Amino acid sequence: MTHLFHRHCHAELPTVSSGDGVYLFDTEGKKYLDGCGGAAVSNLGHSHAAVKKAIIEQVEAIPFAHTGFFTNQPSEALATLLTDLAPDNLDHVYFVSGGSEAVESALKMARQYFVEIGKPNKTQFIARRQSYHGNTLGALAVGGNEWRKENFRPLLAEVEHISPCYAYRDQRESETELAYSHRVADELESKILAMGAENVMAFVAEPVVGATAGALPATTGYFKRIREICDKYDVLLILDEVMCGIGRTGTFYAFEQDDIVPDLVTIAKGLGAGYQPIGAVVVSNKIYDAMANGSGFFQHGHTFMAHPVACASALATIKTILSENLLEKVVSQGEKLQRKLKEALLPLDYVGDVRGRGLFIGVELVADKLTKTPLPAATEANKVVKQLAMKNGLMCYPMAGTINGREGHHILLAPPFIINDEQLDELVSKLKMSLIEAANGWTK
Ligand code: PMP
Repeated sequence: MTHLFHRHCHAELPTVSSGDGVYLFDTEGKKYLDGCGGAAVSNLGHSHAAVKKAIIEQVEAIPFAHTGFFTNQPSEALATLLTDLAPDNLDHVYFVSGGSEAVESALKMARQYFVEIGKPNKTQFIARRQSYHGNTLGALAVGGNEWRKENFRPLLAEVEHISPCYAYRDQRESETELAYSHRVADELESKILAMGAENVMAFVAEPVVGATAGALPATTGYFKRIREICDKYDVLLILDEVMCGIGRTGTFYAFEQDDIVPDLVTIAKGLGAGYQPIGAVVVSNKIYDAMANGSGFFQHGHTFMAHPVACASALATIKTILSENLLEKVVSQGEKLQRKLKEALLPLDYVGDVRGRGLFIGVELVADKLTKTPLPAATEANKVVKQLAMKNGLMCYPMAGTINGREGHHILLAPPFIINDEQLDELVSKLKMSLIEAANGWTK
């Protein structure tokens, strides 16, 4: 009998014992290539000397001092670095311990902002059906994954959802990319008008959808149109970069590639690269100033916010990304990985699409490529592919619920930025082998 309660009550998982670069080892000595960074977390691999050193030094200097009493050097330096890397009007950073806390904080900031500026009737969020924003009650309410919400619906705030930007499934043959982008983005305007702009606080979206779509970038022009609509109706734009931020897509913030500036950005996962739990909200001056010049505080807070060790670890992580030019590596290795995956997997009958940006790539599985019919839930492809990949020494992140959080399957790949060419080949061949083995079950 065990005492540790994992997400699956009866999970029989290998016990991890050590890591080296892009590899993890279990207590039996078996080696696993980390093809997904856990859930797009381990950007620097598993044994980065500079990050480990920064953590040890911070523990020795001062591991914790409550933010109600002290500020600390690593959080100040990290906030400066994160805002230096952001556009001019994103000058403030609020540190928490993970992605859901970051999203909760951003949602509450949006609400407090409108109270501060005298628009207290703005109380509603709009988000997208194809989305995951975390498992705490506010973040879960905003997310569009129906399966995750089912049991908790009585506890969740009402949130309106619009279509995702999902060209593979929704772009019409007669439509240009830009026309498609505008058609789906314009759903936001219709929704705002239906709800009454005076009631709507913010639109929440992932620039590149992660957990619910296995890396799904928006088409060109989509977010520009979204930004215009938000501005027109005084609706804040909250971008959730918990998964796709911190270099994962090839730019430090994913939204840089959409050529827009959000009002609030949430980051986590890759921020600490798994060495420490940390998340943050990057906050625009408009929102910060409304609070600073109004009530003078943000009515929120957590015990471990701006934790010195977590911030020291994130600071070392980002300095490494910059000093080792890892963003360039993400772009070049990402292009190679996407090309290799397309060559190896698209010929398979049940691989419908390979897409993504940088080292954030999704593989969508289908029952029929022509009609794009999703794989039936009964195949349990997510579980089977994961198990077989682990048997074959590969961590990948297959998920069910590609379409509206219910139907369909995809595999998310998000290897560490330091992955080399040989390891890319290993990833592709182990994934292909696992998929072929898995498909023996569902194509029978
Ligand atoms: N937002 C997004 C986009 C995510 O992918 C996740 C985690 N998968 C979260 C929020 C929640 O983060 P956490 O699990 O750290 O609470």
